[in-house]
Amino acid sequence: MIMSAMPQENAEKGRNAERCSLCGGLDGRVFVHAKQRTVAECPTCGLRALSPMPSMDDLIAVNNETVHPFFNAYLEDEESYRGYFARKLDDLQRHEASGRLLDVGCGAGFFLDAARERGYDIAGVDLSSVPVGYARDTLGLDVTIGSLYEYQAPSGSFDVVTMFQTIEHDPTPTALGAELFRLLAPGGTLMVTTPAADGFVARVMGKRWFGYRNVEHVSFFNRQSLQYLLEAAGFEIVLLEVEHGKKLTMKYVLNRLINYYYNHRTFLSNSLRIFRPPMFLLGKAAVFEPWAHLYAIARKPATS
Ligand SMILES: [Zn+2]
Repeated sequence: MIMSAMPQENAEKGRNAERCSLCGGLDGRVFVHAKQRTVAECPTCGLRALSPMPSMDDLIAVNNETVHPFFNAYLEDEESYRGYFARKLDDLQRHEASGRLLDVGCGAGFFLDAARERGYDIAGVDLSSVPVGYARDTLGLDVTIGSLYEYQAPSGSFDVVTMFQTIEHDPTPTALGAELFRLLAPGGTLMVTTPAADGFVARVMGKRWFGYRNVEHVSFFNRQSLQYLLEAAGFEIVLLEVEHGKKLTMKYVLNRLINYYYNHRTFLSNSLRIFRPPMFLLGKAAVFEPWAHLYAIARKPATS
């Protein structure tokens, strides 16, 4: 149903005038136009990114608009998120069993809550006030509203930094890599996930992949570009793979897909009303997210 309703993309294979936001290259090509946005592809580092890249202020405005309507649906999937994060903590504890942990893009704090239970000394930062309010008031977590760049913790403050589904929101991936490297103590561990632009569904859907239509996302990584970001910042890569997504309710997945293929400002509230009865029935049906993630663990060298 959603597939057939998609508009045809007809991107011109033109040159992209902007420098690549990751490697600085000038050989970028227009990859696709989606939702009045242009995604360009860099042949040097493999990054696909919006062109022109919006400013952080523009992104904060979009973020405030898009987080609200989905927050309740997100909370309904708390159990799925917690199960997923428990597996991530199992992985993390094999590399860094304890210490000071910062979760960047911490959202409602489900990961931080579980990390605190396992004995990490936790802190979080996120742009969105509604989820951070929940993390602080309901879960009692040490979380800050704002960007990572405003957070400005002293260098080497953390033994672990985690970023789940967050680097794709950042318009300055090079600065992000440098800041993550600075925040970690020597020998510290970084854990990152992001939608995989080279995952199975993304490859099959090509230019129609819904990842390019997510208005909150500005950078679309594949294994090559994520490796580039991490190594350019100075990290040693411990693990870099494509993983399958979380188990979520069908309701949440449909909400998100509707949002990607229609104008969220006008269509979303109507569609949620129209679809409410079937959504209610689907609320309990669990599906795997129809998108794959890149999953990386990297280490700041112990001596640098
Ligand atoms: Zn590049």
